Amino acid sequence: MDFTDLTVKSAAELLAHKKISAKELFEMSLKRIRQVDDKIHAFLYVAQEQAKQQAVEADQLIADGEGFALTGIPYAVKDNILVKGMQATAGSKILENYKATYDATVIKKLQLENPVIMGKTNLDEFGMGVSTENSAFGPTKNPYDLTRVPGGSSGGSAAAVAAGEVLFALGTDTGGSSRQPASLCGVVGFKPTYGRASRYGLIPLGSSLDQPGVLAKTVEDAAIVFQIMAGSDVHDSTTLPKPVPDYSAFLKPDVKGLRVGVPKEYFIEGIQPEVRQIVEQGIAKFQDLGAIVEEMSLPNAMHALSAYYIILPVEISANLSRYDGIRYGLSVPGKNLEEGYFQTRSQGFGAEVKRRIMIGTYASSAGYYDAYYKKAKQVQVLIKQDFARAFERYDLIVTPTSPSTAFKFGEKTADPIQAYLEDIFTVALNIAGVPGLVVPAGLTSQGLPVGLQIIAPHFAEEKLFWAGHALEQALNLKLKPNL
Ligand code: GLN
Repeated sequence: MDFTDLTVKSAAELLAHKKISAKELFEMSLKRIRQVDDKIHAFLYVAQEQAKQQAVEADQLIADGEGFALTGIPYAVKDNILVKGMQATAGSKILENYKATYDATVIKKLQLENPVIMGKTNLDEFGMGVSTENSAFGPTKNPYDLTRVPGGSSGGSAAAVAAGEVLFALGTDTGGSSRQPASLCGVVGFKPTYGRASRYGLIPLGSSLDQPGVLAKTVEDAAIVFQIMAGSDVHDSTTLPKPVPDYSAFLKPDVKGLRVGVPKEYFIEGIQPEVRQIVEQGIAKFQDLGAIVEEMSLPNAMHALSAYYIILPVEISANLSRYDGIRYGLSVPGKNLEEGYFQTRSQGFGAEVKRRIMIGTYASSAGYYDAYYKKAKQVQVLIKQDFARAFERYDLIVTPTSPSTAFKFGEKTADPIQAYLEDIFTVALNIAGVPGLVVPAGLTSQGLPVGLQIIAPHFAEEKLFWAGHALEQALNLKLKPNL
C-alpha cells in the first residue's frame, strides 16, 4: 500500500475494516515526512511523540467501536492555528518561542474525532504573502518543481498534502491563502463563508476577513473535514448559529440545472494563456455535466484588490499591536518601555509585516481615514452588492484562482505590487464574505498545476462541494508530483 495514494475517505475505510491501524498510518506519514520534507520544508515542527500517542488512542477507539470519519487520520496544521502545548510561530521571529496555551475551536472540534496531528506547517509571516518566502524560517518548495514557490500563505499545508506527507491539512484564508497555494500545488483548497467556522484560536491577521481553511486531495475529503469544523462558537461572536447541512449528501456526479456565471472581468490581460485555457476547459466541463453556463459581469470585482490592500493593513496595524514584547513571544529590553517596544518590533517583524503596519497606520490615521479606509469600506459595499445581485441569477460563479502558475523563488520579492497582484482573483471572496473552493483543473505543458475557483452565495458551501466533486470526477486527473 502506498501512503501517498490514500485519501481521508479511503484511509477511514481501511481503518474501519481493520486492514490498517492508526499506528501504521502514523508511521507511514512520519516515514514520508522523513523522506521528502528535507527537500520540501512544508513542516516547521513535527509532533512525533504526541502524534504516536494520538495514534495509539485512535486504535483503541476504533477497537471499541467508537471510530469516526477522522479517527486515526494523520493531518497537519498551519502554524498560525493554536494547538495547545505546541509552538505557534505564525512564521514570525516574534513568536519563535511561543507555545499555544489553548486549542483553537476548529482543532477542538476535529480532535473530538481523534485524528492525528503530525505537526505544524510553514507560512508567510502572519499570513502575509503568496509564496512562503515571507516566512522567518525559510521558504517551502513546490512539490511539482523544487525551484518554484508553493504559493501562500498556507504554502506549507498545500505542499504537505501535495507531497503526500499527510492526508489533509488546515490552512487559513484572509485573501486567498488556502486557495492560491492549492491551485499552485494541485490540491483542493477551501474557504468557508465568513461566520461559518470559528476564528477562535487563529492568530489574527484581518479579523473581518479571516477564516480557517482546508487543504485536501479530493473535494469529498474537504467536505468530510469541514463537516466537523463548521458551526457556531461561543468564543467567536461572528459565527452564525445556522444548522450545518450534511455535505456528503450533496456529492453527486452531475450538475444538472445549476446556473453557473463566468465573470468577464476575471479573464483579463495578464493572465497566463495556459491558465486561461485550462480554466476555460474546466468551465466547458460544467456545461457537459448539465450546468447552464453564461458569461456575466461583476462590475466592481477589479476594485477588490485595492480595497483589500487598504482594509487588511488597517486591521493588521491594530491586530499586531499586541506584540509589544511584554505579553507574547520575543522581548528585547530597552532603556525604557517605549524603546523596548521599538526594539522588539524592529527585530521581531519581517519587512512585509512592517510595510503593512505602516500602510495600515497611515490609511486609518486622522486626516487620511476618509480618503483611504472609509473609501475602501465603501468599495466593499459595492462588491458585496455585485455578488448579491449575481447570486439572484446564478447558483455559482467560476473563475481562475491565480493569474499565474507557481513562479520561481525571488521572482516577486523585489516588488511587493507584483506579489499583491497574485491575489487579484481571490480577495473579492473575503471582501464579500462568500465561500470558495479551488479544484485542480489540469497541468500546463511545464507540468505545473492550475486550479479553478468556484464561488457560492453565503452559507451555500454544499453547492461548492457538489459542483467541485462533479468536476473532479469528470476531469479524473489523479495528479501526483514526481518526488
Ligand atoms: N496573499 C494574501 C496576502 O498577502 C493572502 C492573505 C491570507 O489569506 N492570509 O494578504
